[in-house]
Amino acid sequence: MVDFDCVVIGGGMVGAASALALAEQGLQVAVVEKYQPQHFSSEQTLDMRVSAISLASQYLLEQLGAWQHIKQWRACPYERLGVWEQEFSYTEFNAKDIEQAHLGHIVENRLIQLALWKQIANHSNITSFCPENLTHLAQDSSKVTLTLSQQVVTAKLVIGADGANSHVRRLINIGVTAWDYQQSAMLINVETTCAQQNITWQQFYPTGPVAFLPLSKKSLIQQRQFKQDQSTGYASLVWYHHKDEIKRLSALTNAQLQMEVLAHFPKRLGDIRVIDKAAFPLTRRHANSYQKERVLLVGDAAHTINPMAGQGVNLGFKDVKALQEVIALAIADGRCWHNAKVLAEYENLRRKDNLLMQTTMDALYLSFSHPSSIFKVLRNLSLFTINKLPLLNSVIKNKALKYACGI
Ligand SMILES: Cc1cc2nc3c(=O)[nH]c(=O)nc-3n(C[C@H](O)[C@H](O)[C@H](O)COP(=O)(O)OP(=O)(O)OC[C@H]3O[C@@H](n4cnc5c(N)ncnc54)[C@H](O)[C@@H]3O)c2cc1C
Repeated sequence: MVDFDCVVIGGGMVGAASALALAEQGLQVAVVEKYQPQHFSSEQTLDMRVSAISLASQYLLEQLGAWQHIKQWRACPYERLGVWEQEFSYTEFNAKDIEQAHLGHIVENRLIQLALWKQIANHSNITSFCPENLTHLAQDSSKVTLTLSQQVVTAKLVIGADGANSHVRRLINIGVTAWDYQQSAMLINVETTCAQQNITWQQFYPTGPVAFLPLSKKSLIQQRQFKQDQSTGYASLVWYHHKDEIKRLSALTNAQLQMEVLAHFPKRLGDIRVIDKAAFPLTRRHANSYQKERVLLVGDAAHTINPMAGQGVNLGFKDVKALQEVIALAIADGRCWHNAKVLAEYENLRRKDNLLMQTTMDALYLSFSHPSSIFKVLRNLSLFTINKLPLLNSVIKNKALKYACGI
């Protein structure tokens, strides 16, 4: 049996970042992941799962040494963010307004995870067990014993980073407050006739928003299936709608889906060709506690959120940053870094912030899906007014923008 200071269950984006952040404190860390991340090659097509990575998340990934790999592979910066329901209420957020070069990057999830794993492979304080699977967990006053498929290990602290349906969370009997949104989201990777863009946009409908996220075509233009033409670009479209409608759209061929997209997305999209598609149900979950007897939850294992503002993994990275800070402080003060008081400090730092973002997204979801015409006029007038009054514009818009960017 091998003893570790900390074992991270789940080596997705948040778990891999947690392992690196704790190893940087000098702790002996193990990371357990079910699936081996695939190596990067320019032959691979774009991943269906992409994330809008905030400035704060970029800084964390830089600190962990992963950003340099991501930049080298593929990442698409965006400087502007457009939102509207009726055309007259179109509101644009610009990086210049908050004195930044960009608001964030759209990056394939697989590449974020792979870049972190590249750093893990080079870190002398980290042991990786992959492919491996957690089957059982037993807590006592001095350690946690973890039974994996092929070995047993112990840890002073276990981090549950095993995603929305966390096995760790279930094994330690932490419940969740949860509800299903009435919508699902369809992600559609497309080739567009517009050159690569520096804007991400979202138009709201009562049935759910439609969104455009630009993707980097770096290395893809070398592939036969992508045009060499510089005037084409790539993008991830997100189509939120009632579950039944997303089910119907999922059953269409790419050519049929292309016709539906062209009929329902705003004209500014231009012409497109559908490359690939996938659908996801949307559920909000919040763990009733983030920690219990030497086991702590981060990322989607602790909270999931409506993805319409692209904040899920950004909140997970904020969890990692907070955890790193409380443990670093405890070590610097000579306190026991894994005791319940330190872990409670992590929960105090993160619970309110996660809840605030979840609630803000739900308020947006409810407000824009309300069918009443009075609501429709009010929400469009609010956007219009914020746009037209300079003081409101700079105070409300820039504050919201800084919050979304995590700065
Ligand atoms: C449609 C959609 C769009 C989104 N867009 C954005 C966006 O633009 N920006 C953003 O910030 N967020 C976005 N999100 C949210 C984001 O994808 C998640 O928050 C993020 O993937 C959570 O990362 P995680 O590492 O916590 O969990 P996961 O990505 O679920 O990773 C969990 C890992 O644990 C492993 N695992 C699970 N069980 C075990 C086990 N028993 N043993 C070992 N390993 C195990 C899994 O293999 C996996 O690698 C979106 C979500 C959806 C559904």
